Amino acid sequence: MSLSSKALLWQKIIALDPICSGSLHEQYLPCGKSNCQCKNSQHPQRHGPYYLWVRRLNGKQVNRTLKPGPELEKVRKGIANYQLLQTYLGQVLLEDENRVLEPDRAWMGATKKNFRWKLPKS
Ligand SMILES: [Zn+2]
Repeated sequence: MSLSSKALLWQKIIALDPICSGSLHEQYLPCGKSNCQCKNSQHPQRHGPYYLWVRRLNGKQVNRTLKPGPELEKVRKGIANYQLLQTYLGQVLLEDENRVLEPDRAWMGATKKNFRWKLPKS
């Protein structure tokens, strides 16, 4: 990969804003009022949609409930950006692999003549 195309990838990565991990889950929830429609035994009409945002931060699962609005849209965009980040990083890794290895050993030049190594079990 030429330096300029790598720089182009990093430019794309820098432009990803915001970046959010995890996933969003649509939910309809009951409220705390005892005589509310959401407690109707025949046709309960729960409140929503709300969106549960589930992700891991510092190794711990963190949940947050979001209403439709600017916060939710930022998180949606952030999650989409995270997918793009992984795509771009994958391209960087692939291209650099071809730069650090000799041409016949690199991914682009790899053929069935390569040995199949068994990785040690950890
Ligand atoms: Zn209710």
